[in-house]
Amino acid sequence: MKAVAVFPKGHEVKVIDVPEPRLEAPGQVRVRTLEVGVCGTDKEIVQGLHGRPPQGEDHLIVGHECLGEVVEVGAGVKDVKVGDLVVPRVRRPCSEASCAPCRQGHADFCVTGQYTERGIQGAHGFCAEFFVEDARYLHVLPRELRQVGVLTETLTIAEKALRQVALLRQRVPWKRDAPERAVVLGAGPVGLLGAMALVRAGYETTVYSHSRKPNKKAELAESWGVPYLSSEELEVKALVEQRGRADVVYEAAGAAGAAFTLVSGLAPNGVFVFTGVPESEKEKVDQGALMKQLVLNNQVLLGTVNAAAEDFEAAVRDLSLFRGTWPGGLEAIITARHPPEDYAEVVTGDKSSAVKDVIVFSRG
Ligand SMILES: [Zn+2]
Ligand SMILES: [Zn+2]
Repeated sequence: MKAVAVFPKGHEVKVIDVPEPRLEAPGQVRVRTLEVGVCGTDKEIVQGLHGRPPQGEDHLIVGHECLGEVVEVGAGVKDVKVGDLVVPRVRRPCSEASCAPCRQGHADFCVTGQYTERGIQGAHGFCAEFFVEDARYLHVLPRELRQVGVLTETLTIAEKALRQVALLRQRVPWKRDAPERAVVLGAGPVGLLGAMALVRAGYETTVYSHSRKPNKKAELAESWGVPYLSSEELEVKALVEQRGRADVVYEAAGAAGAAFTLVSGLAPNGVFVFTGVPESEKEKVDQGALMKQLVLNNQVLLGTVNAAAEDFEAAVRDLSLFRGTWPGGLEAIITARHPPEDYAEVVTGDKSSAVKDVIVFSRG
């Protein structure tokens, strides 16, 4: 079968021919890949900045944002059946007996760093015509999500972040029914889906991103009733004057400088969530001022990575809900669909106007 793989040694990404996987245990499921989304992580893997092949192999089959259709189930599988639309989780637990999070089903909080991630760290991904997966790592989607289900994994970033924020908001019980403000930094798929999730959670939300208007991402956000402001046109001080301080900032730009500049726009008792993985940036931050601001305002800087089963369940529920709230909104986030042969070009090409590019393996 056809697969897309990165060969780190030769800095190469190409379509290869590999044997079709077979069921090897009663709890497994064989899935036909329909679509795989590409993101900044894939770009870093192709550039050799991130990711590694499975132990002893010279290549990594890429792809972690997948939508598939079940074609075969093992004898022990109960909750998944042939014909189901499914999305697989990405991270698999480490094998260390001492890793309490992994042992208790919270691999997203793994403390050893020895976890694997399909399509990223030490395990092949989903950019192949078929894959085999343990049923417990699959989430079934309703048929109505066929056209947008490939966005599930991206939305789980926001779902996990909002779950963490909800825990932290217990610190401020008097705020429970008061309007809360959120700013999303960045207008890529993580940011736009994050904005939808924040609106759904009741936040008065603003998208704050680099590009000046008019641009496609701004049009999308504003078509959903979410104001878009450009950091090129409006400094953080002016943003705060226009929109107020943010109780929650959801960073989805992966740029450390822009993120730390926005910390000054955080409201007292607010939570600043980082989701991006930037390259090293040695810009100076005024550490004293930052620490003083955090302490005197009870503020939290929170990092979040990966997502758990409950975040995938929440994402599936929310995709259905978003389709009802913003008809055509999710479809518009998917800018283009491409054949596997175009993978390298899609991942490394100019993404300034694209939102989410998707690789199509089967029209199902
Ligand atoms: Zn991704
Ligand atoms: Zn672990």
